[in-house]
Amino acid sequence: MDALIGIDMGATTIAGGVVTTAGEVLEVVERPTRRDGPGTATATLMEVVERVMAAAGRHRAAVEGIGIGVPGLIDPAKGMLMSDCNLVPELAFLPLADLVRERTRQPTYVDNDVNALALAEWSFGHGRGIDSFVLLAIGTGLGGANILDGRLLRGRHGYAGEWGHVPVVLGGRACRCGGQGCVGAYVSGLGISHEAGLRVAGRSDSALLARAGGDPQAITAPMVFAAARGGDAVAGALVTEACEALAACLGAIVNALNPDLILVTGGVAASLEPLAVDILQRARRYALAPALDDTRVQFAIADKGSTVRGGAALVLYETARRRAAATSGPGV
Ligand SMILES: [Zn+2]
Repeated sequence: MDALIGIDMGATTIAGGVVTTAGEVLEVVERPTRRDGPGTATATLMEVVERVMAAAGRHRAAVEGIGIGVPGLIDPAKGMLMSDCNLVPELAFLPLADLVRERTRQPTYVDNDVNALALAEWSFGHGRGIDSFVLLAIGTGLGGANILDGRLLRGRHGYAGEWGHVPVVLGGRACRCGGQGCVGAYVSGLGISHEAGLRVAGRSDSALLARAGGDPQAITAPMVFAAARGGDAVAGALVTEACEALAACLGAIVNALNPDLILVTGGVAASLEPLAVDILQRARRYALAPALDDTRVQFAIADKGSTVRGGAALVLYETARRRAAATSGPGV
C-alpha cells in the first residue's frame, strides 16, 4: 500500500500522520513543540518524522513523500519560512525541506499550513471535484488559500492568499501586521479578544469582563460570542462588526476570484456558523450579485485528522504538478 506522510508543525504541537492516498489517516503521532533553546523545535520535528516513518513501516506502507504545513510566510520552492516574526522563531530561514529530505531520503515539500489544509479539502474533503475554491481558516488569526481553475495560487514568492490582511475598513483597527483595517483585526480570535479588552477595561458593570474574572486580557473570542448571545451590548457590537467585516471580505473574494465555493473553517468559524444567514445577507452589499449567487459559502468545522491530511495532500499535489511539468517539457 502507498502512503503519504503529513506533518502539521504548530507552535504548541507537532503532529505527524500516516495517510493513505485516499486520505484515510492510519496513525497520528503528536509531540509538544519544544521551544526551550535554538534547535529544540527542529529536534521535535525530526523526532515526529522518525516516529511517523516507523509507524508507516508497521503498516507496511510504501512512503511516497513527506509534506509539512508550517504557519507563516513560506517560500515553497526553497522549502523554508521567509519571516522571523513567526510563532516558532528558530524556523526562520531554516532549509526545512532539505533537512528532512537529507534525514529521510524522501521527497519532502514544505508549504504554508493553510495552503496545505486547502489542498486536503480539495483532495479529500469539501472541495473534492471543484475547480475553484477559497479556504478561510479563522482561528487565532485569519489565514486563507486559493485554488483557482485547478491550481493552488501561490504568487511570486508563495505569499498569495493572505485574505486576513485585506483591508475592509478605511482607517480601521490596527492589525498585528502593521497595517490598518485588516479583516483579521475584526474577525480573528486575537482581533476580537484584543478589541474586547480595550472596550471593557475599567468598566466594572461589564458582563463580558465578569466572564473573564475581571481581567480584560483574559477575554477570549468564545466569551465574546457567549456574552453577545446573553445580551451584552459591547459583545454584541463586536460580533456585529465581525460579521460585517467578514461579509466585506467575502465580497472581495467573490468579486476577485469568482470561486465555486468559499469554505470557512477554524475555531472561530464554529462561533460564526449560527450567524451564517446574517453574514451572507450583509455580503450582498459588497459582492457582485450574479457572482455571489454562483458561490456556495460553507462553514465547516475541521476534524482532528485534517491537519496531517494537509501535508499528505501537499505531497500528492506536488508529485502531480512536477510530473506534469516534466512531461510538458521546457517553458512550463
Ligand atoms: Zn493585517
